Amino acid sequence: MGSRYFSDYELECHGDGCCNGGVDKINPILLQKLDQLREMVGGALELSCAYRCPVHNEEVGGVPNSQHVLGNGADVQTPNYRWCSTPEELAWYCEKVGFDAIGIYDWGCHVDVRDNGESPNYYRW
Ligand SMILES: [Zn+2]
Repeated sequence: MGSRYFSDYELECHGDGCCNGGVDKINPILLQKLDQLREMVGGALELSCAYRCPVHNEEVGGVPNSQHVLGNGADVQTPNYRWCSTPEELAWYCEKVGFDAIGIYDWGCHVDVRDNGESPNYYRW
């Protein structure tokens, strides 16, 4: 298992001493779709957050049922490539991959597979 393009370090909880990283709690469907996204964009992507344990989630003020805590969500930074230089352009690629949820922010996109990939592009913000 695991991701072809993203290391455990990139995927695990980034809290300080709160847990063992929890990379094993990440939904394999999320990893598969993040790899697909990486392939479609055709260049390195940076994740600001993927898995987050309940303790660290509380520290950063995340909602208790956050998709990050459930292992379903990731925050992908806009890579600033010529062909993908805005959050909206990144969202276009996310849409092609078919994450269940895509949220556009000024730093990039939140994506998640809350329905295990069965509701592609259904939740949008
Ligand atoms: Zn943690």
